[in-house]
Amino acid sequence: TYVVTENCIACKYMDCVEVCPVDCFYEGENTLVIHPDECIDCGVCEPECPADAIRPDTDADSERWVAFNRKYAEMW
Ligand code: SF4
Repeated sequence: TYVVTENCIACKYMDCVEVCPVDCFYEGENTLVIHPDECIDCGVCEPECPADAIRPDTDADSERWVAFNRKYAEMW
């Protein structure tokens, strides 16, 4: 799965949402989030993010971001 990270805070760009083929972006408090169970790992959103906030969950430090994304995505 891909995850939204800190650079997304207060970002107003929605480029990632538009390209996601499965609509798995949701609104968090100050950021967008990706639902980790719905993301199909296609990767098309990553280069679209102007803030460089989207990363694969294989990155170091990604565990807490997966939890963060899940928490807010599951509120919907
Ligand atoms: Fe959507 Fe693909 Fe990005 Fe996952 S990797 S959030 S499926 S665009």
